[in-house]
Amino acid sequence: MATMTAMRFRSTRDSTATVGFAEALLRGLAPDGGLYAPAAWPRIEPESLAGFTDLAGLAAALLAPFVEGEDFAAALPAVTREAFNFPAPCISLAADGRLGVLELFHGPTAAFKDFGAQFLAASLARLRKPGTRPLTVLVATSGDTGGAVAAAFHGRPGIEVAVLFPKGLVSPTQERQLTCWGGNVSSYAVRGTFDDCQRMVKEALVDPLLREQTELSSANSINLGRLLPQAVYYAATSLDVWRTHRRPTSFVIPSGNLGNAVACIWARKIGLPIGDIVLAHNANRTVPDYLDSGDWRPRPSVATLACSMDVGDPSNMERLWGLFPEIRDLRTAVTADSVDDESIRNRIRRGFDTLGQIWCPHTATAAEAYARLSRERQQSGHWVIVATAHPAKFREVVEPLIGREVPVPETLRRLLARPTACTEIEASLAALRICLDEGRS
Ligand SMILES: *Cc1c(COP(=O)(O)O)cnc(C)c1O
Repeated sequence: MATMTAMRFRSTRDSTATVGFAEALLRGLAPDGGLYAPAAWPRIEPESLAGFTDLAGLAAALLAPFVEGEDFAAALPAVTREAFNFPAPCISLAADGRLGVLELFHGPTAAFKDFGAQFLAASLARLRKPGTRPLTVLVATSGDTGGAVAAAFHGRPGIEVAVLFPKGLVSPTQERQLTCWGGNVSSYAVRGTFDDCQRMVKEALVDPLLREQTELSSANSINLGRLLPQAVYYAATSLDVWRTHRRPTSFVIPSGNLGNAVACIWARKIGLPIGDIVLAHNANRTVPDYLDSGDWRPRPSVATLACSMDVGDPSNMERLWGLFPEIRDLRTAVTADSVDDESIRNRIRRGFDTLGQIWCPHTATAAEAYARLSRERQQSGHWVIVATAHPAKFREVVEPLIGREVPVPETLRRLLARPTACTEIEASLAALRICLDEGRS
């Protein structure tokens, strides 16, 4: 066997300082404020993954090169078994099998973020050195991240979680999921937007004083440990299509902070048979406008029906620039569209009337972006619409449109029955600092 060289990860801002997998996960954000990305790319032949039929096994094989040379490598199969313990079925929508919906919402909180959150939690539980100070995991959420992270970390010894969400800007069902935990999970309703929450987390992670007092990490998609596992369901889906049709799969991805999309781009980069990638944004048009004009103009987010994608300044853009420093390269790598609330509503109605599908507003955003592709492009390959949340999480929006009740999955029903509690705070690092101080004493 060849000697293995450990995979390194470098900051999107300073490419000279690299860290290993463990440190990248424990830190969350690089000290210079950048995001970690692989410093080199392993190459994976689709044929080498032919033997794997379950997600956990595929995940262990796919992610092995990223943890090579680390102590953690021995724990990887156990981690993927723990994290990938629910399915990601791809439902066929067209008789010719050329269009499917990839359902990523069968986890504990019924959103795709369960995959990344569970992998990160299972990894950090093994990476944290026993007998050291507790690790505080910060998470800013526009709705779904916080619930998924709380579910994944709840009850894990030695780890505290602080969830920050914009007060009044998440759906009632989401708010319950964010505030029903207690124990090692504290929830904060921030008087501000998601971008404020995200800024507070980033400021906290690089704040020297806080870092001195606490071990801090982040469970946002800025954390590498959330992104890498998301490549797994793109790999699984595209390998399935490849085995049967020898065709690459193109994906339409409901996008906000671009974590899910970057994972898909990474999967394609390491050699999986993935074709086009379409970023489906809601009325927060920062990314589609950028691809059109070439001017990067982050802006405050606006509230939409697809609220988990209400992001005006997507963090993971830095990772895209890392891969595609020139805009013309980015334009060949992805396309993007923006879908307003009215079109989301219409698409939910049509999805139900014509296909019998019940879509959450995020999934409907992607379905609409697909519908707007030219016929030629639609016919050019095998397309998959990514379904990021179960519609029951957005019943208030979906039920009036389809004129019937959305069945609630059992896991979600149990969650929603729990009592809730949260603390309201100002949108400032100072306010967060006080809360973290109280948590320690
Ligand atoms: C978070 C989320 C998105 C957006 O994912 P990003 O990785 O932030 O682009 C889309 N849909 C749902 C349901 C989400 O929770």
